[in-house]
Amino acid sequence: VALCEAEAAPPARSGPGVVEPHFNWKLFWQFLRPHLLVLGAAVVLALGAALVNVQIPLLLGQLVEIVAKYTRDHVGSFLTESRSLGTHLLILYGLQGLLTFGYLVLLSRVGERVAADMRRALFSNLLRQDIAFFDAKKTGQLVSRLTTDVQEFKSSFKLVISQGLRSCTQVAGCLVTLSMLSTRLTLLLMVATPALMGAGTLMGSALRKLSRQCQEQVARATAVADEALGNVRTVRAFAMEQREEELYGAELGGSRCKAEELGRGIALFQGLSSIAFNCMVLGTLCIGGSLVAGQQLTGGDLMSFLVASQTVQRSMANLSVLFGQVVRGLSAGTRVFEYMTLSPCIPLSGGHCIPREHLRGSITFHNVCFSYPCRPGFHVLRDFTLTLPPGKIVALVGQSGGGKTTVASLLERFYDPTAGMVTLDGQDLRTLDPSWLRGQVIGFISQEPVLFGTTIMENIRFGKLGASDEEVYAAAREANAHEFITSFPEGYNTVVGERGATLSGGQKQRLAIARALVKQPSVLILDEATSALDSESERLVQEALDRASAGRTVLVIAHRLSTVRGAHQIVVLAHGRVCEVGTHEELLKKGRLYSELIRRQALDAPPPETPR
Ligand code: ADP
Ligand code: MG
Repeated sequence: VALCEAEAAPPARSGPGVVEPHFNWKLFWQFLRPHLLVLGAAVVLALGAALVNVQIPLLLGQLVEIVAKYTRDHVGSFLTESRSLGTHLLILYGLQGLLTFGYLVLLSRVGERVAADMRRALFSNLLRQDIAFFDAKKTGQLVSRLTTDVQEFKSSFKLVISQGLRSCTQVAGCLVTLSMLSTRLTLLLMVATPALMGAGTLMGSALRKLSRQCQEQVARATAVADEALGNVRTVRAFAMEQREEELYGAELGGSRCKAEELGRGIALFQGLSSIAFNCMVLGTLCIGGSLVAGQQLTGGDLMSFLVASQTVQRSMANLSVLFGQVVRGLSAGTRVFEYMTLSPCIPLSGGHCIPREHLRGSITFHNVCFSYPCRPGFHVLRDFTLTLPPGKIVALVGQSGGGKTTVASLLERFYDPTAGMVTLDGQDLRTLDPSWLRGQVIGFISQEPVLFGTTIMENIRFGKLGASDEEVYAAAREANAHEFITSFPEGYNTVVGERGATLSGGQKQRLAIARALVKQPSVLILDEATSALDSESERLVQEALDRASAGRTVLVIAHRLSTVRGAHQIVVLAHGRVCEVGTHEELLKKGRLYSELIRRQALDAPPPETPR
């Protein structure tokens, strides 16, 4: 019975045919080492419980012997004779219960602590991976390694210690008892049990496969629901509720069919196995009975034999379940450890910093070539050379998809250039401390700011952990955000909802600006910071940006050219190279790419402020 229930447990999602790395025993040992003492205690208690369990059949047999004696000749007091045996049995039962309680408590303590340590280590290592790593992976997969895989590994581990140890001891112990009781019966049992186990295992593996398919189908249905609920605005806007319902219904129907098939399989298995177990009992009784009749065995011994053989069979059934669980646990553990040992190319910290008083904030791209690691053949930047003079505003314009955001990513050191180098005050970025660079030098404001689902205060403070309330207010004022924040009933304690969903685009953007300004960056990158906004919010944001730009080295990336006229220098990016450099007037006079872009935008939409 236990076999079938475990078969229905969710299986591992290992892709077929994928060569997986091996399980990292060394790393596992490191997680286990701090808990060895407790684990050892758990093992001792589990062994104790198993050994006590082995004693029980013998005592039961003796008790039956006494009962049999009293059914034959009714002399003496049954109670007096059986009292000591009964007490002994009661003590053993109590002891067994106590030991079981003890080892399960200790084991769950070890299991939970190891799992928490593993999660912490995995999360911390995931967070320090390169941005390129995240380009190639789905967030859902990474999260499932943190949750499902660790969970699976933990439960396998606990099961191996509790069930595995116990079952092995019981099988061994009971086999000794059995052979002491009757060698002939034991030999018979040794032939019958493995045959049945074999049949059971075969059926079990078929059920496991079915259960895996069932799980995958459920996952498909969940994915449909997840996508529809997560993007409910889009679904609503296209009036697609009906279609999503049908889609979900279809997947659900599939998973129901599979689950029912699995249910029938399990039912068949349980039916057959109960017949098999009962036949074993009957067979033992018949053969044993003939031995008793031939006076080769006492009735009590037969009873002991029956109980012990049941223990053996139950334990072996447990072991076969355990085998499947171990396979799943190991592959889950492999997946967990895989990302725990991965080291990023760009470390989070290390390298030197330039003292604040010496920092000028001059940035140069020297003949930079770059292609994204996940698309190596595709050259985004070729021989790109650009200087951002300290305290000046440089605008980068060009076609969408031309590589403007890529330039900003290289400056943030999300990636390293394939060739060439980027320098800050003449020093290669690769020799500088990345966390200092990102945390204190560069303020990055992107087109789609992402806020965290906490208060406005905490969101702004994300820019600088130790910032005082005053610093936060100052940054918010500079970002034109103070006014709207204080107009909320909860003020700075307003919770912004998941990803800032309860704010308008312009408000989100101003909070993002405040978040970047609170760290007082020397270099500011504005990646199309206003292009998604309506003209009123654009004016407010632009005003904040103009104020924030004063005295800083600024790289403005813009798609809408009206926003870059005031820049000290405008750089036109095309085909991964710098094509034109100059001020707005100079470039217009040249009459090439820039003036062409201006003309096209003027045709697309009338500029917000026409020159009088
Ligand atoms: P822009 O900001 O000028 O619109 P991007 O720098 O975002 O352009 O993109 C430049 C090119 O690089 C595009 O062709 C885009 O498809 C590609 N690209 C952008 N981000 C990635 C990425 N993470 N991985 C692979 N290719 C990317
Ligand atoms: Mg871009």
